[in-house]
Amino acid sequence: MATPEITAPKTLGKVRPHQTQNEALLFEKSSPGKRAYKLPPLDVPAVDPAALLGATRRDASAELPELSEIELIRHFTRLSTWNYAIDLGMYPLGSCTMKYNPRVNEYVARIAGLAEAHPYRPESLAQGILEVIDLLQRCLIEITGMDAITLQPAAGAHGEFTGILLVRAWHESQGNARKKILIPDSAHGTNPATAAICGYAVENLKSNAEGGIDLEALARQVDEETAALMLTNPSTIGVFESQIAQIAEILHAKGALLYMDGANMNALVGKARPGDFGVDVMHLNLHKTFSTPHGGGGPGSGPVACKAFLEPFLPTPILVRAPQAPGAPSIPRTSAEWVGDHESNPAPLAWNYDRPHSVGRVRAFYGNTGMFIRALAYILANGPDGLRQTTEDAVLNANYIRAKLEDVYELPYKTASMHEVVFSDKRQAALGVKTGDIAKRLIDYGFHPYTVSFPMIVHGALMIEPTESESLEELDLFIAAMRAIAREVEETPDLVKTAPHSTRVSRLDEVQAARKPILRWRPAV
Ligand SMILES: *Cc1c(COP(=O)(O)O)cnc(C)c1O
Repeated sequence: MATPEITAPKTLGKVRPHQTQNEALLFEKSSPGKRAYKLPPLDVPAVDPAALLGATRRDASAELPELSEIELIRHFTRLSTWNYAIDLGMYPLGSCTMKYNPRVNEYVARIAGLAEAHPYRPESLAQGILEVIDLLQRCLIEITGMDAITLQPAAGAHGEFTGILLVRAWHESQGNARKKILIPDSAHGTNPATAAICGYAVENLKSNAEGGIDLEALARQVDEETAALMLTNPSTIGVFESQIAQIAEILHAKGALLYMDGANMNALVGKARPGDFGVDVMHLNLHKTFSTPHGGGGPGSGPVACKAFLEPFLPTPILVRAPQAPGAPSIPRTSAEWVGDHESNPAPLAWNYDRPHSVGRVRAFYGNTGMFIRALAYILANGPDGLRQTTEDAVLNANYIRAKLEDVYELPYKTASMHEVVFSDKRQAALGVKTGDIAKRLIDYGFHPYTVSFPMIVHGALMIEPTESESLEELDLFIAAMRAIAREVEETPDLVKTAPHSTRVSRLDEVQAARKPILRWRPAV
């Protein structure tokens, strides 16, 4: 297929007017007395708010902005067009897995009986939504090869926190909580943060030349004070840790556990199961692997799956089938079947709060239920073969990009790539252009930047993850843009170093924005 032509605007000339107008704050647009609604005349006796609320009533005005409906709608609609989104184009943020959010997920999540299920609804009237939760749990247990699961955690990092709480609770039950957690130098920053917040010392584990775990270094570092190893697999450079079974053995021989950061599970679904290669506890990101929205569209969901020996410590409550009539055969709740549990066991579902060893609740109610519905819709719409196919397509897409860019961008780790590929800016940096500059120039070509300067083990990293969502045409456009930028770096480096040129604002003071963010708007007096 011929390489498509692609050009980027170097001035604002082609941008539509509403895209160049800077949008004022609602507070700045406010004009006293404007309303976005009109209520019918009062047809019940008026009540004096002061009498009703007494001392709890605010004396001063809340200073809320006052606007008409159309001003309000235009404001938010314009803002929405400033955002890059997966619905606009490729979003190749490595490690973040910005896959398309299928509309069937949204359709199912809006079915009234599911969308309006209230967490305080009695269990007898909530069997439908409980069946959805139960089926998702069984699908995820099957996909991961683990024994038990909690859907409570609201994000990946929250899942890590929950998982390491399980690790700590189990070690405590063995008489010693232990002191440290081993974390490879390629790990996502949330891993060391999790270990620290769970009261563990973090010990760094150096990667070997292939970007994997050095088994000898691991064997030297694991001791009776090691609670667990937190391992991302495939790793953050998109490489499968092929020695995973030996790693698990080394840990288990010293009574330590293997935690798998499963944020990259989209490279394994339908192909390999962590439960089969020695993982004791792991988290999933429904908002990455299972296509629920993120990056502003959330909320997230970070289920934690574990082996049976950790099950007693799972957050409370857990979902169970109510005991059946005396004498009825007990129904094994194994991971073996995907669908049909309801048919084989008609007993109603119920939340069990009688969990004396539980680490407690980690989230109000039962987790982000709306995301459970979407993830289950995605799983069932694809089916087992379809899920395996998405994994294969994600890996194929990443390797296609790798093959097409390898001659212009440095590839520090030559190990087989899975769902993402990590280049470095070595060749471009020699000409004074860094990964951050290339990423900003990519914006002018209509793409969201890739992940910049992560993972840390690659200096000047360009981390690219296309996911299975992208067509060959879109991948070719992205490749053409990346190749065009590589040429610009050689011919007109200043163009790249001052990018983006097509946006409302160009280079912001990122340090100032992080250190001194303006979080409050105050009306001028
Ligand atoms: C995204 C990610 C996380 C954290 O997930 P959040 O939902 O953003 O908290 C952890 N580890 C890895 C490897 C990730 O890619």
